[in-house]
Parts: sequence; C-alpha cells; structure tokens
Amino acid sequence: MDCLFCKIVNGEIPSKKIYEDENCYAFEDINPVAPVHVLIVPKKHINGVDTIEASDGEILKSIFAAIKIIAKDLKLNNGYRVISNVGEDGGQSVRHLHFHLIGGKKLAWTF
Ligand code: AMP
Ligand code: ZN
Repeated sequence: MDCLFCKIVNGEIPSKKIYEDENCYAFEDINPVAPVHVLIVPKKHINGVDTIEASDGEILKSIFAAIKIIAKDLKLNNGYRVISNVGEDGGQSVRHLHFHLIGGKKLAWTF
C-alpha cells in the first residue's frame, strides 16, 4: 500500500523519532504549528478514527499511553492538545490514523 505513514513506520521514509512501542510510533511533525508538534500513529495501518474497530483496543491503549509519556517527557505540564482529523471535512491529509500532540504555548481555538 502506498501510505506515507506506513513508510515512516517501516523506516522507508526518515522521521525524527520521539517514542516507540510494539503498537505505535511517534515522530515530529514536519510542519509544526506550535513549539511541540508530535504525531502518534499505530504501526498497523488504520485509515482513521472512522475505521477503528473493537479489536484495535490494545493499539489505542498504546497510543494514549504514549501520548501521556511524551507529554511528560516534553514537560507539557501546563496542558496540551490532542487532535485527530477525519476525512475531507476534518482536514485529514494522510489517510493513516494519527493523533497530533500539540503544545508548548497557549493554544488558540478558532475555525
Ligand atoms: P493531517 O492533515 O491531520 O492528516 O496531518 C498530517 C500531518 O502530517 C501534517 O501535520 C503534516 O505536516 C504531517 N506530515 C506530512 N508529511 C510528513 C513527513 N514526511 N514527516 C512528518 N510529518 C509529516
Ligand atoms: Zn498506513
């Protein structure tokens, strides 16, 4: 499958790794919107939040454990934001499930 994040997970495309466990991989976003902008992706290809299945429970556990660990490591003690864009209206440009972990400054909320 021609998927950018599958290629990042398997090392075909380089990335700045932040964290990894058996189920998920986290790396710096190439176009950061804040001082901290990390992407957390499952190693298994899942299209997006809209195609998560009950059997993906362990993967989601890893992803949210990773988010907590990364936020602590990067000292985001005052808060941060976790976002997953879904589909065209959601602005999802890479169709491999990913969670943006954004922080390091006070974040605005505008659309
Ligand atoms: P989304 O628009 O929610 O699908 O998020 C995709 C994210 O992937 C964007 O924030 C991009 O900046 C980021 N991105 C695209 N290509 C790369 C890459 N090669 N390495 C790291 N991040 C990337
Ligand atoms: Zn993929």
